[in-house]
Amino acid sequence: MKKERELEDLKKQIAADKKLRLKSNLVFGEGNANAQVVFIGEAPGAKEDIEGRPFVGRSGQLLRRMICENGWKESEVYITNIVKQRPPENRDPTQEEILLYIPYLQKQLDIIKPKIIVPLGRFSTNYFLPKAKITIDQGKVFLQNKRKIFPMLHPAAALRSTKRMKMFIDSFKTLSDITSGVYKGRVIKVD
Ligand code: URA
Repeated sequence: MKKERELEDLKKQIAADKKLRLKSNLVFGEGNANAQVVFIGEAPGAKEDIEGRPFVGRSGQLLRRMICENGWKESEVYITNIVKQRPPENRDPTQEEILLYIPYLQKQLDIIKPKIIVPLGRFSTNYFLPKAKITIDQGKVFLQNKRKIFPMLHPAAALRSTKRMKMFIDSFKTLSDITSGVYKGRVIKVD
């Protein structure tokens, strides 16, 4: 119960933070406070803003379907975003907005302590791996501070082309191999 309570406290801290200028609803994240795998998107969209839950729109449905098809229950993993409020008109989050939310994401990860972080898309990938190029580095396994970082395409990108959908599906299979301990491929150590 302790981790759940710590996450609830963190949520209250974000809600009370006057420095955060986005005025839309808080979409904190959801799932298992003891999850081994945490998926991290960019920022909530319109549907997420209304429901107060991450990844519940079209790309979220794909993400959640892939999670289930690869043998997990949604309640076993954790899903969140870097930026936890919707930027107006679905624009990309600015660097300034990202920097304001990063300490909260870090605290969230410090509480959950996942073994594998899955940044979805270039914004969250480049936070963990500043030199990474999402189309080249998605589906590769990185080791950073004793935890694995496994960048994947954003599900919205997967929905835009058959080629990217295949990359997304293949990466999910690799993720499942990693969590079940059968992955024997390369692990790239980074600072
Ligand atoms: N895209 C994201 O990056 N996050 C969401 O929660 C929804 C769409």
